Amino acid sequence: MKRLHNWFRKKLGWLLPPQYSVEERAEDEPPVKLNGRKVYLLGSPNPDIACLKCPGGCGKLIFLDLDENASIKWRIVKKNRLTIHPSIWNTLDCTCHFWIIRGEVKWCNDI
Ligand SMILES: [Zn+2]
Repeated sequence: MKRLHNWFRKKLGWLLPPQYSVEERAEDEPPVKLNGRKVYLLGSPNPDIACLKCPGGCGKLIFLDLDENASIKWRIVKKNRLTIHPSIWNTLDCTCHFWIIRGEVKWCNDI
């Protein structure tokens, strides 16, 4: 069933709504009630931090540093079909490793 689902996503992915979308927040804090399908850009319109709920099952919050002076940093490549560069590796909790490309989670097979 999962394979069929993946096949449909591959063929018809552009028809389906993206799994992750952006929410720009002026506040520096994520909302109390998190939507697991949102990536929050904190401190918008010039966000320093992006945060999202880990898609790997632990559900913990992941914070991504967007500050271009930071040594480890991420870039929001596209907002409308959300793409984040580079990959995200949750080394603290469930150790999942993934990309977000055009709103979709792409798992890395290196663990
Ligand atoms: Zn996780």
